[in-house]
Amino acid sequence: MEPDRSTIWPYDENGELREFYYARYAHPTGVAAEKRLGALEGGEALLYASGMGAATNVLLTFAAPGMTIALAEGIYYGTSVLLRELERWGLAFVEFDQTGTPPPADIVWVEAPANPVLTTPDWEALRAHPGFVVCDATIATPVYLHPLDEGVDVVLHSATKYLCGHHDALVGATVTRDSELTGRLHELRGRAGIQASPDAAASLLRGLESLPKRMEQISASAEELARRLGEHPAVETVRYPGYSGVISFDVADPRGVETSTRLIVNATSLGGVTSTIESRYRWEGDRIPQGLLRLSVGLEDVEALWADLAQALA
Ligand code: PLP
Repeated sequence: MEPDRSTIWPYDENGELREFYYARYAHPTGVAAEKRLGALEGGEALLYASGMGAATNVLLTFAAPGMTIALAEGIYYGTSVLLRELERWGLAFVEFDQTGTPPPADIVWVEAPANPVLTTPDWEALRAHPGFVVCDATIATPVYLHPLDEGVDVVLHSATKYLCGHHDALVGATVTRDSELTGRLHELRGRAGIQASPDAAASLLRGLESLPKRMEQISASAEELARRLGEHPAVETVRYPGYSGVISFDVADPRGVETSTRLIVNATSLGGVTSTIESRYRWEGDRIPQGLLRLSVGLEDVEALWADLAQALA
């Protein structure tokens, strides 16, 4: 779909608003991509300028001073930093192991699976929790998980990753099944000005077309690489949730390994057709094991990927 880059559309003949009038609130390319993503997730999707834009909108819409947010340990570092920023706004935070029961809280924030420790939430414990539940399902994608079916209130995606899939667009998304929640998110998104651009929305539409096929090959390669990494003498712990393309594993010299790959790009981010690897210690410090490498498997030939990893680990 060619993006519609207009920022304005005329009022109708009576001077009333039509569906589109100013692009900060909604634009045709964004709405087309939201419908496609919403259909995949089984809910109502909204797009944002990035995954962090989506997280910001969720917080501004649903959090208030005096609330407690229970935050799963080991989730995306940037989200934990953003949430901590809001401590000075009168929010309290408590971290918990998402494989067990969340502590009492107004909002519970989980990640499925967590980036980079790759734990998965305990859905039954979440269903029993009275708080508002937000689940970042960036790594799972709607190909492998529908958190709304697990009772989650808001699903969040960094669509920058698998949903767009080519390392060339920043997009975030929320999905809910409750029109009242969607309406509140939509209202604040428009006021805050954190809508995705038409070009980014067009990248998402393109990415969603190939998503199931990409995830099929990426998952098959990742499963095989996780198995072989597990047998490699230079590799300590291997974490792989059994689906999607992120593997994290520990080595004695992570900087040496990440700078020795040739096919796999030594760069941050994940979820693209090009494989990436990085030591997360440079970002997260002692929050994660010092030797942890995060590998995002792309669409390259699996034997070529293994040959690259094996020579970097040698
Ligand atoms: N959530 C997860 C799980 C991520 O990995 C990331 C980025 O790495 C984000 C959210 C933030 O997304 P973005 O970079 O699109 O703002």
